[in-house]
Amino acid sequence: MNVVMKFGGSSVATIEKIQNVADIIIRKKKEASNIVVVVSAMGKTTNELISLSKQISKRPDTRELDQLMSTGEMVSASLLSMALIEKGHDAISMTGNKAGFRTKGIHTKSKIEDVKTKNLDQALSEGKVVVVAGFQGINERGDITTFGRGGSDTSAVALAAKLGFDCEIYTDVEGIYSVDPRRYKEAKKLDVLSFDEVMEMAHLGAKVIEPRSVELAKKYNVKVYIALNTADKKGTLITDGGNVLEKNVINNISVIEDVLLVSFNAHKKKLSDIFLKLAQRNINVDVISQSEETISFTSTNENEDIIAELFEEENISYNFRRDLSKVSVIGNAMRSQPGVAASVFKIFSENEIEFYQVSTSEISISYIIDKDKVDDVIRILAQEFNL
Ligand code: ASP
Ligand code: MG
Repeated sequence: MNVVMKFGGSSVATIEKIQNVADIIIRKKKEASNIVVVVSAMGKTTNELISLSKQISKRPDTRELDQLMSTGEMVSASLLSMALIEKGHDAISMTGNKAGFRTKGIHTKSKIEDVKTKNLDQALSEGKVVVVAGFQGINERGDITTFGRGGSDTSAVALAAKLGFDCEIYTDVEGIYSVDPRRYKEAKKLDVLSFDEVMEMAHLGAKVIEPRSVELAKKYNVKVYIALNTADKKGTLITDGGNVLEKNVINNISVIEDVLLVSFNAHKKKLSDIFLKLAQRNINVDVISQSEETISFTSTNENEDIIAELFEEENISYNFRRDLSKVSVIGNAMRSQPGVAASVFKIFSENEIEFYQVSTSEISISYIIDKDKVDDVIRILAQEFNL
């Protein structure tokens, strides 16, 4: 087998951890003929680099910021490669540029256009383990760009897609769970999930893997295996829906916190103007609903002041409901099995749990509820749906 192994910041946070990662890679060499490793920056390095730049400018020049941030991954890549060499294994580290990542789009949020794997192929053919600095590439001007926070997952998936390798992402959790185990101790680790479910989870609050990387994995049908960075426990495989068992209607409950529910009165004709003004103020609006002349939408607590200011400027009467959370149930089988919403509604009413808004997608249903009810709701739903 051939594999891309990705190790995140917490897995390479110290020299000792880098040594452990080197040992895991060496063990992998017994079964894999070609190994490419992608690393993130050590621990909180990226945050530290950003905060250095903020001491110089409130809004640092983004080209320079990319130049700065990209160094984090270069440090961990070269240290890991050194560790492998020191342990007697042939290895070479590469910057995103040397590994062939060509990007387009704006600095700090660039997209991967292509990966020119010539240097990689050469090094692999010489039997080397190639350690690639994640999160970075170069644009058409030859400037370094980065892919947005958490972007080294995307580096790994892009390489796996391009090289036709398996993709393994090692992290500080044992895989993906039915509910965040920090919230619900009895949560189960899931053996397999579909791309769509994981994307939905990532957008609905689960902090498992960067959503763009799953999108890419889906596009190129790259199976992604998520596992603990000690590599000694079974993780979760993300694959297409086809071979995912549909025995569970619901596979996951995800939560987004700090939800603000905004209601206001306005004539229909004014709506587009209001939402445009919200957008111009960079207010992300989530679930929108309307009845008569009352419009409601959800946003996040941190936007409260800006929204209030806008409505006051516009002379619109409004109302905020604070301290809410969005709880979502997610499952591929919802596509074909009706009645999930009905059974959740029933559970809510039996347990006298109030919800303020509901929204659905093909494979999820989300409820806006009071923050202090979240743990109860999770426990009840998890028991009901055997999660
Ligand atoms: N080091 C980058 C970040 O912290 C990229 C990554 O971790 O994937 O966002
Ligand atoms: Mg990371």
